[in-house]
Amino acid sequence: AGQRVADSLGYSVFIIGGFVRDLLLLNPTQDLDFVVEGNGHAFAQALYQELNRGQLTLHDSFGTARIEFPNGTHLDVASTRWEYYEFPGALPQVEESRLRDDLFRRDFTINAMALAINSDRYGELVDYYGGLRDLKQGEIRFLHHLSFIEDPTRILRAVRFAERYRFRLSKETQEGVATALKAGVLHKLSTERFTQEFLLILREKQYARMGQSLIELGVMEEWFGERLPWNFTRIPENENLTSEEKWLISVSLFNQQQINSALSLKLSREMKREALKFKEIQAALLAESSLNLSIMDQHLSGVSRNIRIALRYDPALEQSMNNYEQAVEQLKLEINGFALRKLGISEGPEIGRILKEIRWAWLEQKIHTPAEEKQLMLQ
Ligand code: ATP
Repeated sequence: AGQRVADSLGYSVFIIGGFVRDLLLLNPTQDLDFVVEGNGHAFAQALYQELNRGQLTLHDSFGTARIEFPNGTHLDVASTRWEYYEFPGALPQVEESRLRDDLFRRDFTINAMALAINSDRYGELVDYYGGLRDLKQGEIRFLHHLSFIEDPTRILRAVRFAERYRFRLSKETQEGVATALKAGVLHKLSTERFTQEFLLILREKQYARMGQSLIELGVMEEWFGERLPWNFTRIPENENLTSEEKWLISVSLFNQQQINSALSLKLSREMKREALKFKEIQAALLAESSLNLSIMDQHLSGVSRNIRIALRYDPALEQSMNNYEQAVEQLKLEINGFALRKLGISEGPEIGRILKEIRWAWLEQKIHTPAEEKQLMLQ
């Protein structure tokens, strides 16, 4: 569809950035970025009509637009020609040099390749900066020496791409990171932007390795102003942990003051609330002299799944948490509030008390059958 629209409007159109990189890595992703040598809004509108689905949003006067699809994927359109909107039909050499400029503003060579989609040059790779070579060599390479000074979030992005693909930073890129950090560039960065990049890292499977790498580079210490006991090493790659769970595990060794330092990030209210709740429950469990199942249940009933999973990764609680989760899974409680009401118990608190007592009796294996449960209830 993109090709038909590009040809019929007479625009040169390219797919650019992450999609091209992942395609060459034989790992296609769904989000598409188009760069149009022409009116970006006109291209987006025509493409939207051709696709006949999703939702189109036209942004600012720079000719950018987005089509969002119901499955959560999207397609972005940008124009190389926005500065000269008033003057259509610029010379082809000028157009080419604008694409080159657009690509030069990107973060790394592997993200600075474009793929032509017009029928006359379909599939042609535009690679001015050696992106394909770096993909083959497994290297993350910046496009110019001021890259990290210009935009310090690229330091976090470098780590993210390097660990995701198990690439390394090229020698100059590594030096560029060190120089930029030494110059204190992180202090130029807003909390929002640092947090945004940190959250992208949290979503990655190799989050723990990325975190470890950020520690080694000195990024974490520089940003938080102190050396925090991040618990990255206990986060496994092969388990499907959510961002929230990974976040809780990584702060599980922090004390109260250190948690406050971590919460200076611009996280969602929910993520902050959960971190505090996690620390509270962890402390309460660790303060118990013995952790039998009913005591654990007192602390853990009603606690979110994220927190319960994260507690399993605290070495001091691992065994007890696993026992507890297993016991809860096997719980055969038959009685409920409705049945108790039918038996003539009408007061809420009384019903709650009886249900808890029966639940704990099961957990402590004081009862083993529905018959025993009924007997206990009638006592
Ligand atoms: P992912 O697989 O993580 O989505 P992506 O490459 O698609 O990777 P995005 O963050 O969506 O990542 O960025 C899209 C493109 O925009 C990148 O490929 C890169 O070319 C460019 N880009 C994004 N952030 C920056 C930045 N801070 N500096 C320069 N270019 C950037």
